[in-house]
Amino acid sequence: MRGVVMYGPGDVRVVDREAPKIIEPTDAIIRITTTCICGSDLWPYRGVEPVDHTFMGHEYVGVVEEIGDAVQTLKVDDFVVGSFCISDNACEICRAGYQSRCVRGSFVAAAIGTQAERARIPYADGTLVPTPGRPAPELVPSLLAASDVLGTGWFAAVAAEVGPGKTVAVVGDGAVGLMGVLAAKQLGAERIIAMSRHADRQALAREFGATDIVETRGDEGVAAIQELTNGLGAHSVIEAVGTQESLMQAIRSTRPGGHIGYVGVAHEGVALPADELFFAEVHLHGGPAPVRRFLPELIDLIWDRKIDPGKVFDLTLPLAEAAEGYQAMDQRRAIKTLLTL
Ligand SMILES: [Zn+2]
Repeated sequence: MRGVVMYGPGDVRVVDREAPKIIEPTDAIIRITTTCICGSDLWPYRGVEPVDHTFMGHEYVGVVEEIGDAVQTLKVDDFVVGSFCISDNACEICRAGYQSRCVRGSFVAAAIGTQAERARIPYADGTLVPTPGRPAPELVPSLLAASDVLGTGWFAAVAAEVGPGKTVAVVGDGAVGLMGVLAAKQLGAERIIAMSRHADRQALAREFGATDIVETRGDEGVAAIQELTNGLGAHSVIEAVGTQESLMQAIRSTRPGGHIGYVGVAHEGVALPADELFFAEVHLHGGPAPVRRFLPELIDLIWDRKIDPGKVFDLTLPLAEAAEGYQAMDQRRAIKTLLTL
C-alpha cells in the first residue's frame, strides 16, 4: 500500500509500505478514505523533533475492511472516525474520561501512521466510533476534523470550563485554536476573543464564533485582554500553541479563579515559574486530548449539521502530493491540508 514516510526533516515521500494485517483479536483493519496533515507533523518536518523514516499521520476516517474475532461494536463496511490515541475505553482511566492516558493506550502517530491507504487499529472497539451511515461527501472533512483538531479544541474548551456568560480567550490561531473558538461558541460562551495576526485566520475565527480579535501577543496581548475584561482577565483561556510565550500569555490573561485548557504540545525547555503560578491562582488542565470521550457527541453535531469544523481545511490534495501539503503548511500558505485517497 502507499503511505507517507518522513525520511528526515523536510523530506516527505509517498512510498510503498507493507499492508497491515490483523494481529490481535481486538484489531480492525480500516481502508482510509480521507486523512490530513497536523500542525504537530511540522515539528519533525522543521527538525524540532527527531525523525528518521517515520510513518506519518494520526487523523483518519475510513471504512472497516476486516475485524478481529473479539471486536463487538463494529462490522465490516462501517464508516468510522478514530481518535489519534489508541484506547480500550474500558480501563479505570478511560472510564473517567481520559482515554488519551489509557493504561493500554498508545499513539497512532509513528507506530501506525494514517497518511496511508490502510491502517491496523488496535482496541478497535475502544478507539473507533461508527457513524450512523455512509456520510454525505460534504460531511467527511468535518468528521475527519473530529479525529483530532476538533476533539482537541473541544477538550481545551471543556478543560477551561467554558460556559454560558463567560469570556473566553484563545491563544493560537492554528487549526486547534480555531476549533477552540468553535467549541467555545457551541458551549455557550458569551464573548470569545481570538488572538491572531493573520487576516484569513481572523475571518475564519469570526465565522466560528469569535466576537473580538486581538492582534498583539506577549505582554501587549495580555494587556489587550485585560483591557477587554475590565482589568480582570478572561474566565477561560484556551492555549493551543505550546511555547513558553504562549503559555505565559495564557496564564497572565486568566483572571484569579479562572481556568486554562492547554493543548499545545509543550516541548523541552518550556517551564512554568512556580512563584508566578502561586500568586496567579488559576486552574491549569491540559495534555493530549481524550478525543474518544467526545467523539459520539461530535459526530452527532456534525451529522445533524449543527457545526461545520471541516471549514478549517483550506487545501485539498491527493495523498500522492503530500509533500506539497507539508510545504504549504510549513510556509503558512495553508492552515490545514486534507489528503484524499
Ligand atoms: Zn483504557
